[in-house]
Amino acid sequence: EWVNLGALFEYILNRFDMIIASKQAGQKDYRIIRKIDPTPVWVEVDPSKFTQVIDNIMNNAIKYSPDGGIILTRMELVDQKAVISIKDQGLGIPQKDVQHVFDRFFRVDKARSRAQGGTGLGLAIAKEIVESFGGRIWAESKEGQGSEFKIALPYSLEADLEDDWSDNEE
Ligand code: ATP
Ligand code: MG
Repeated sequence: EWVNLGALFEYILNRFDMIIASKQAGQKDYRIIRKIDPTPVWVEVDPSKFTQVIDNIMNNAIKYSPDGGIILTRMELVDQKAVISIKDQGLGIPQKDVQHVFDRFFRVDKARSRAQGGTGLGLAIAKEIVESFGGRIWAESKEGQGSEFKIALPYSLEADLEDDWSDNEE
């Protein structure tokens, strides 16, 4: 299914704003900043699976961040790819572990992670889904300075899709 990536991303992020607006006592505070390229770009994804990926990255950003943390979200067009980025101000990931966070059941600090809850499968599933869309997912982090998760997807501009349509009618 072809979807407008910026619109879908904003829609998913708005649900996180609703969570914070109706938050219960004891829940963590956070603020989402958006920098989304206004150019409409189209990606061929399953929207509910894409939502699952962003939900996990956002939930991680919240879970591994201090109370009141800022989460910077971006969508940029770089080298013919739409690049989504979610950057937190949390505890970060040690350099030696950055490539491993996408492995099944991998968790940086077993004791710490157990207290936080979760299975360590979220990012492994996210990687499978993103690769099934022909995309790439990776993490960048300096321990103590937060983490950034990025997803690069091939995209089409609306004009390209109209070309496809007229091809089909011939
Ligand atoms: P699940 O998503 O299955 O509930 P989980 O969040 O522990 O559990 P993943 O989402 O796969 O599992 O993340 C794997 C590990 O990567 C986490 O346990 C954590 O150690 C580390 N990690 C992921 N995101 C962040 C982040 N934003 N900041 C710091 N560490 C992170
Ligand atoms: Mg997770």
